Amino acid sequence: MENLYDLIIKNGNVVLPNEVSRLDIGIIKGKIAALGKDLPIIPNTMIIDAEEHYVLPGMIDMHVHFNEPAMGHWEGFRSGSAALAAGGCTTYADMPLNGNPPTVNRAALNLKADAANGNSAVDYVLWGGLVPGNLADLEELAAAGVTGFKAFLSNPGGEGEGRFREVDDDTLYQGMKIIASFGGILALHAESEDITNALSLDAERNGRNTAGDFASCRPPEAELEAVARALLYSERTGCRLHFVHISTSTAIEMIHTAKLRGLDVTAETCPHYLILNEQHMEDLGPVAKCAPPLRSEEEREKLWKVLSEGKIDLIASDHSPCPTELKVKSGLSFFEAWGGISGAQSSLELMFHEGVNVRGLPVTLISSLLAELPAKRFGMQDRKGSIAVGLDADLVLLHPNRSHSLQAEELLYRHKHSPYIGMTLSCQVTSTISRGKVVYTAEGGVISGTGGQWLRLHEGQLME
Ligand code: ZN
Repeated sequence: MENLYDLIIKNGNVVLPNEVSRLDIGIIKGKIAALGKDLPIIPNTMIIDAEEHYVLPGMIDMHVHFNEPAMGHWEGFRSGSAALAAGGCTTYADMPLNGNPPTVNRAALNLKADAANGNSAVDYVLWGGLVPGNLADLEELAAAGVTGFKAFLSNPGGEGEGRFREVDDDTLYQGMKIIASFGGILALHAESEDITNALSLDAERNGRNTAGDFASCRPPEAELEAVARALLYSERTGCRLHFVHISTSTAIEMIHTAKLRGLDVTAETCPHYLILNEQHMEDLGPVAKCAPPLRSEEEREKLWKVLSEGKIDLIASDHSPCPTELKVKSGLSFFEAWGGISGAQSSLELMFHEGVNVRGLPVTLISSLLAELPAKRFGMQDRKGSIAVGLDADLVLLHPNRSHSLQAEELLYRHKHSPYIGMTLSCQVTSTISRGKVVYTAEGGVISGTGGQWLRLHEGQLME
């Protein structure tokens, strides 16, 4: 047989969609060409021995905030994608709001794409935005290959004239009608602006500015009201919806119920809602500040319950970095500090550690939430998200029992803060492979930092 594999990954416990199997993976020209026992080796074949390792499909992180163009001093494609590669992520989706200009029209998308081009360690997709005033830009953004649209129901923060704004109800409704007309998908930050704004103003008037006060200004009801409203709009417009970073099990149940009655809606949550609780916000300070806020320990347990029941569609990091001084400057109140958790490098290890090693959930379940389900939801399943013949060889080797304490120096973000520093993780990503190329090893760090490509989508399919 003349099959000349460029690379064979041997002896690993390969995480397939429904089972884990000890197989070799043969790779030709960046694609998975064979799965089998004892694949033939010829002199030029590169071998990676995955003994004692799981081989998983690379994570697909649908929710990161890189800040280019213009705000790369917060986080850029180089540093951000290197951190993702080190964490076992092989495809990510950049959110439209933190660059200047935000990605809300074709010209801004071009600037975003230029900033990313040649600077990403792994493949990526780009979100467009839905904001007041850009209804006429949506179709053109879709035709240019954005993966979908992101909108905020609550104020996203930030400053300046051109900043990304939350949608009013009319923009949301009209936007959803337009997005539905071309079969697009809308991702929503679901917190009620009316509720969070009124509570925040009241806290400010009364000088309440602790972590606990912040959390009480963004109660679960703010999430539930926003989810209920958006589900109604989805039902009336036929627009597909993806709820980002859902923080409560009740909202997950609402979305799940809507799905059962036929709505095309999905729910994401993030490692921080599954690993941390409101006490971490008190103890760690603004490094653990995010919106919606971290919830109670009881709520964290309930989220794991709905996750184990298959009611959560995917896990994404919501990596939302900033210069460290915006988290820790002296005199900075919890309210004034930047809201956003920097955590993308740890997503897979956190989920495997807590989900598989601590809670005993199936590796296949955790893997599907990190790779297969996001690929399917966003039209990438013909190339990404599973270990199967014909798909891109986007793979991660993870040692399931290698305990290490996360150190700031290991983090490849531009600014090395994270609420997970000092945490002991029971597993470790040891290699990441993107389209058949090793892009990261635990010993060598990031080896190849610029080969990532923009995957454009059109009408729910990858464009060639
Ligand atoms: Zn986000």
